[in-house]
Amino acid sequence: MLRDARRAVIFTGAGISTESGIPDFRSPGGYWTKHAPIEFQDYLASQELRREAWRRRFSMEETFASVRPNDGHKAVAELVARGTASHVITQNIDNLHQESGVPADRVIEIHGNTRYAKCLDCGMRMDLEPIRVHFEQHGDPPDCPACGGIVKTATISFGQAMPELEMALAEEATLACDLFVVLGSSLVVYPAAGFPVIARRRGAKLAIVNREPTEMDEIAHLTLHSGIGPTLKAAISAL
Ligand code: NAD
Ligand code: ZN
Repeated sequence: MLRDARRAVIFTGAGISTESGIPDFRSPGGYWTKHAPIEFQDYLASQELRREAWRRRFSMEETFASVRPNDGHKAVAELVARGTASHVITQNIDNLHQESGVPADRVIEIHGNTRYAKCLDCGMRMDLEPIRVHFEQHGDPPDCPACGGIVKTATISFGQAMPELEMALAEEATLACDLFVVLGSSLVVYPAAGFPVIARRRGAKLAIVNREPTEMDEIAHLTLHSGIGPTLKAAISAL
């Protein structure tokens, strides 16, 4: 299918990064089972939940700062470099597609990025390190130095509006593709999980590589219940 594709889209979820050592949400024993997500409205309303969100984020910092792209990310980067894939649409927030060499303008992050923070009012981008230092000194994250607004990691929480530009770019890429490849997503989080359906309706081929069955297996042309790294590495070497 990759050999025949002229303009593929690669759609990734937490599963592509587990081989790098970042736990996913819904595998047995995953992060989800241990920490209930903090919804956007609660983050806005409660200082205590903002503290909790930052505690969780900083407890993951060592992981996020040390992880490296794995064979799955590298295979995806290779597909983009060869021109087989036009874009990578990712639900991931870990920045590993960019670190594997996919140009930033080819990565569409529909759930944002946890490697930096943003002011929720004025949108100013902030590094995490000064926020961590402030948090350790004062027990609270700082307010935005420009406007005094609430600061949050640059991710999209449950209950938070999807980023308009990224959603539009993702839809455009999906409508234009002839092959849509899902890698490591349970396809239960909407609207993200709607993209494979859009691609399929539009006549693109749909392939899913995911260890466990997904919500969309029935409508896929190809489903591989296997590990992403080894599967993609083998696929690339056969091209
Ligand atoms: P998910 O946890 O719902 O599903 C991941 C799927 O990947 C599971 O079905 C699992 O069986 C499969 N999987 C795990 N490792 C695999 C491997 N090595 N090979 C093949 N399949 C594998 O993840 P989701 O659908 O992305 O939804 C979760 C949400 O959480 C997303 O919005 C995402 O933004 C966020 N999230 C991101 C990260 C990250 O950035 N790395 C990590 C956890 C959660
Ligand atoms: Zn601000």
